[in-house]
Amino acid sequence: MSQPRLLILGPPGAGKGTQSANIADEYDVSHVTTGDALRANKDMDISDMDTEYDTPREYMEAGDLVPDAVVNAIVDEALDSADGFVLDGYPRNPEQAEELAGMTDLDVVLSLSVSREELVDRLTGRRVCDDCGASYHVEFNQPETEGVCGECGGKLIQREDDDEESVRNRLDVFDENTAPVIDHYEDHDGFVAIDGEQPPDEVWSDIRRAIDERTE
Ligand SMILES: [Zn+2]
Repeated sequence: MSQPRLLILGPPGAGKGTQSANIADEYDVSHVTTGDALRANKDMDISDMDTEYDTPREYMEAGDLVPDAVVNAIVDEALDSADGFVLDGYPRNPEQAEELAGMTDLDVVLSLSVSREELVDRLTGRRVCDDCGASYHVEFNQPETEGVCGECGGKLIQREDDDEESVRNRLDVFDENTAPVIDHYEDHDGFVAIDGEQPPDEVWSDIRRAIDERTE
């Protein structure tokens, strides 16, 4: 068969980015995120879409939110030009899930589940280097010297949106908007729930088995 078309779902902190990178590498497919798709199609002509600006670039440069219809068109374009993909970070709501159904047929829908308290621990424990941006975790990925970047010696800080209140807000937003997307896909033939609370290599072996079973 042709290259697999995969969707990965799960809350912030569930490990979608890490596992999408594994999938892209192992199955030779594109890792498609909304942000990357937007950057790759900045100059797409959207003048016929009855939007305020004629290209996505103008929204980005103005700091305005890119309208849903434009995001949908950009994701459609990114999926069209990919030979197999793992889509990560879209759809964010049931309306986008409906749009996606009109763009492509998915072979596998992976849903990573992780408990709320584990997500809070993962997200609030994150520390980043103030200089080079390297990422650490107070529990799972400690630097050699506490508070000091192992790459460049810079100072490790907690980003403002990783404090507990912001993290809980982000998870609430997910529960409200995106959790219904998971319900939407539960009846899909390719749907598979993955226990995302396991160590990353065990999550990965479950994912690989799920993909192999559904694409052979
Ligand atoms: Zn650094």
